[in-house]
Amino acid sequence: MLVSHSMITRRQFIETVSAAAAVPLLGIQNPPAVPANEWGSPVFDLHHHMRPALQGNLAHIDGAGITKANLLARAPLAEQVKAIQAAAPGRFTWFSSFDITKPEAEAALTQAVKDGAQGFGEIKYHVAADGPELRRMYALAGELGVPILVHFQEVDHFEGEGKWSTGFATSFEAMLKAYPKTRFIGHADAFWANVSADYHNEAAYPQGPIAPGGITDKLLRDYPNLYGDVSANSGNNALSRDPSFTAGFLERHQDKLLMGSDCSCADGHGAGVSQANNPVASRLAGKCVARETLTVLKKSTSPAVFKKIVWDNAHKLIKIA
Ligand SMILES: [Zn+2]
Ligand SMILES: [Zn+2]
Repeated sequence: MLVSHSMITRRQFIETVSAAAAVPLLGIQNPPAVPANEWGSPVFDLHHHMRPALQGNLAHIDGAGITKANLLARAPLAEQVKAIQAAAPGRFTWFSSFDITKPEAEAALTQAVKDGAQGFGEIKYHVAADGPELRRMYALAGELGVPILVHFQEVDHFEGEGKWSTGFATSFEAMLKAYPKTRFIGHADAFWANVSADYHNEAAYPQGPIAPGGITDKLLRDYPNLYGDVSANSGNNALSRDPSFTAGFLERHQDKLLMGSDCSCADGHGAGVSQANNPVASRLAGKCVARETLTVLKKSTSPAVFKKIVWDNAHKLIKIA
C-alpha cells in the first residue's frame, strides 16, 4: 500500500509542515522511550510509511512493540525525515522514493542517499518490471550500494487502479540476472501470490493450499540478490493461508526475509484504517498488520529464525545505527 501525494489532504499537509518545525524541540524535552521486548526479540519494521507528525510514527511502532522502523518517504520530504529521526534517536531509518517516470528521478534519489536515505522505496509506479524506468533505478541502486524495494501487483484492488511493476512472474528473473550487484526487495500481491506454483493472476490474494515450486520460492532460492518483505495483507496472506507451507518457507529463506508491516493503523493495535480501505484486504480490517504478521511468524518458526527475520536480516542489508 502506498499513500500517494494526491491522497494527502490539505489539513494533513499543514500538520506535516507545523510538525516538522516543532519536532526538534520535542526531542530535546521529551525523548521517546523504547518499548518493552514484547515479541521476545527486538523488531525492525522495514515497511513503515511515514506519518505526517512524529507522534503518529511513534504511536504505531510503540503500540505494536516495534523497536525501530524504516520510514518510507519521498525525496522532497528529506527535512521532515531528518527532524523525526533527530527527535527520536535510533528509532527510524529512511528509504526514499521519487516518481521514476520523471527525468529528474536519478538526481533526486542520488541526493536522497547523500542526505541519509539507505534504500529506494517504496517504488510503486505503473511501469513494467523490466521497462526503462525501473531499469534505470535498478542500475542506480546497484551503483549507490542501496537496496530497492519494489511493489509488484497485477490484479486491481478497485476498478481503474491499474497494475504496478508488471511482469514479476515473466520478466523479473532477467532483471535479477542483469543487475547482479543490485539488492532487490520484493513486495506486494504478485510477489507473494507467486509463492504458489498454480497462480495465474486470478486474484490479488489467493486462498488455500500452496502448490510447491512457486516462482517466488525459486527466485529466493536461486538469486542471492533477492530478498522478500513480508509486509501488508499480501505477505500476511501468503504466510497464513497454508501453515504446512509456512514453516518450510521461513526455514528455507531465513536469511532473505524481512519483517515489514505496511500498516496504516493509528496505534499499533488496529485503530483507524490498517489497509487503506482496500476492499479485497478486508480480512485485516480492524487489525494491526504488524501484530498479525509478527504473530504468524512467531508461531511458525524457531526463536532463532524469528529473530533473523524480524531483526538481524535488515541489519545485514542496511547499516542501522
Ligand atoms: Zn506496496
Ligand atoms: Zn498497525
